[in-house]
Amino acid sequence: MTAAAPNQSILPLARPITTLSGVGPERAGLLARLEIRTIEDLLLHRPRRYEDRRQFRPIAQLQLDEPATTRGTVVALGVKWYQKHTKSVFELILDDGSARLHCRWWNLPFMEKYFAVGDEVIAFGKPVALKPRTMDHPETEVVEDGEENFIHFNRLTPIYPLTEGLPQRWLRSLVWRTLARFEEQVPEPWPELHLAGGTLNLPTRAQAVRMLHFPETVADTEAARRRLALDEFIELQRQIQQRRQNFETRARALPCRGDNHHIKPFLAQLGFKLTEAQTKVLRELRQDLSGPHPMRRLLQGDVGSGKTVVAACCALMALESGYHVALMAPTEVLAEQHFGNFTNWLGPLGIAVELQTGSRKTGEGGSPKSKVQSLKSNVQRQESGTRQSPTLTIGTHALLEAGFAPEHLGLVIIDEQHKFGVAQREQLVRKGHYPHLLVMTATPIPRTLGLTLYGELDVSVIDELPPGRGRIKTFVRTADKLPQVWAFVRDRLAEGRQVYVVYPRVEEAGPNGVKAVTKEFETLQQTLAPFRVGLLHGRLRPKEKEEVMAAFRAREVRALLATSLIEVGVDVPNATIMLIENAELFGLAQLHQLRGRIGRGAHDSYCVLVAAARSKEARTRLQVLEETTDGFHIAEADLKLRGPGELLGQQQSGMPRFRFGDLAADLELIQQARHLAVRLQSGATTIP
Ligand code: ADP
Ligand code: MG
Repeated sequence: MTAAAPNQSILPLARPITTLSGVGPERAGLLARLEIRTIEDLLLHRPRRYEDRRQFRPIAQLQLDEPATTRGTVVALGVKWYQKHTKSVFELILDDGSARLHCRWWNLPFMEKYFAVGDEVIAFGKPVALKPRTMDHPETEVVEDGEENFIHFNRLTPIYPLTEGLPQRWLRSLVWRTLARFEEQVPEPWPELHLAGGTLNLPTRAQAVRMLHFPETVADTEAARRRLALDEFIELQRQIQQRRQNFETRARALPCRGDNHHIKPFLAQLGFKLTEAQTKVLRELRQDLSGPHPMRRLLQGDVGSGKTVVAACCALMALESGYHVALMAPTEVLAEQHFGNFTNWLGPLGIAVELQTGSRKTGEGGSPKSKVQSLKSNVQRQESGTRQSPTLTIGTHALLEAGFAPEHLGLVIIDEQHKFGVAQREQLVRKGHYPHLLVMTATPIPRTLGLTLYGELDVSVIDELPPGRGRIKTFVRTADKLPQVWAFVRDRLAEGRQVYVVYPRVEEAGPNGVKAVTKEFETLQQTLAPFRVGLLHGRLRPKEKEEVMAAFRAREVRALLATSLIEVGVDVPNATIMLIENAELFGLAQLHQLRGRIGRGAHDSYCVLVAAARSKEARTRLQVLEETTDGFHIAEADLKLRGPGELLGQQQSGMPRFRFGDLAADLELIQQARHLAVRLQSGATTIP
């Protein structure tokens, strides 16, 4: 080792990788591409898979399409060129005495220099043919003589993610040597929790690191992963709880419980009775608003469960108490809809409702503009000394801008929270002096994500839909069935209903029949005539969006062609058909949101998912929606199929990346981590 003096003071595992012998600047550069910079990074470099090299499959016993590891001696090799020397195939023939195996690589002629006749080679791959036995692009490793062979053979051998120029065998040796030197120094991060052995039956962290790289059994690899994942989750939960504790010691709650003088008349004129679930949630909210710390609450409820009314009651509590309220929604369409509803609801009570939106890009291209459009924009009409009468301001991201800074902001409500980043939530809250915060989401969040992403929020759930809703039937259809689908749509329109038709793109149709809404608009005006067709997408001007939505609400426009812009919040009970073309391009959770736009009135509703005929796999995925309307079930399925990024959307910053933790599978570990982090915080460290 060539440890430079300054590094001696650093904890051994935090030392740079270059302090290891054999790691020069060039290799260090390659390792950095794998995000390996310190000794600890190296020890936590997770194998991609393991290869059982205690037993090789004889070449004669290889099965078609079945991945296997085999070994043999190179008996022939060479590159063949074709198409005027622009394409090539490198072929290597292995023989192990039982049979021969042809290994082929296309357009990688330089592979030739890595092998020679007589070399002993290990190959892992899937035979694509048996006459002759052939593997395309197998993973290979040349067996070298040497003392180190015990590292690479006769064991479950780790196969690491690599980068070009970094040999598997070299990296494995490096891990082995580093482990031998530093294993003892892998610290137990939370010794007071006694995680090893005991009730949790986990290895120590040091053991886990060894088992990660050189497991004795397949079970070892999972035990190691679980231990290392638990450490990640504990660390995260500790941060979450620390944040919450800091907040609670600093922030005093504004008294916002209200006295019912608005809520009573509001509920009386509403026209329906709150469901039990809504009432239960309101009790929880009132408790929070009368508590010592500002409310930090997530309200979860499936699409159509009636979160808006709950938000209105919560707003009224703060308004009754003399504080301002801000409500932020992710799209102008939704902000305007809320503005309409809340004006109708609160206007008669003498409460001022204002709207602040800016023309903004909707993620479909176009440049962001920050022109702020403000209706009744007198947010700052503060007369000196006198306090402005409590106002509800509804808006989009425009509320985040500097111009919006009301004094006495008592409550912030964020609708469709999953469309905003965690940072934006905090930005709005900082506008006041620790206002109460209610965030609402209709994306049912799998518990694992909820505990990680919304860990510092208390959670309320509306787990029942209002009564008297028609059923929603869902059908998956291939594009060749569109004529029948349109005939069906026309019949429903003739009965007086309305339809949403959703396309993935705005202007340009894509390859493979991906449709764009503006193009379809032209043809569908004819297909659906005499019924009026409207067009809604993010590139329209706010006024145009407003007009088409107003016409749709007034039932003048009967078919609304849109992008997924209407995914969130839009509420038009007479619309009973949701037709989505190129449905295979959307995530399940997103489709469920879109489907939530229908089934809001007493009529039966129909969701038709039209998918390209070729993508059989996609159609199988879509069938989940045919089978269930349970948003939680769908979100879990989406998480498993597409991972958390898809479920949360691009905008969800603040989501940590895990090396070992798996948000789709580790609910139990995450719950454990949460308990353990509480113990760490409180100093009580015995595990029950
Ligand atoms: P979401 O939870 O998806 O935001 P909304 O708040 O938009 O749902 O509510 C969906 C529809 O249900 C609205 O038209 C709303 O007025 C209506 N609604 C809400 N609560 C009730 C209730 N208790 N009884 C009947 N209808 C209700
Ligand atoms: Mg809503």
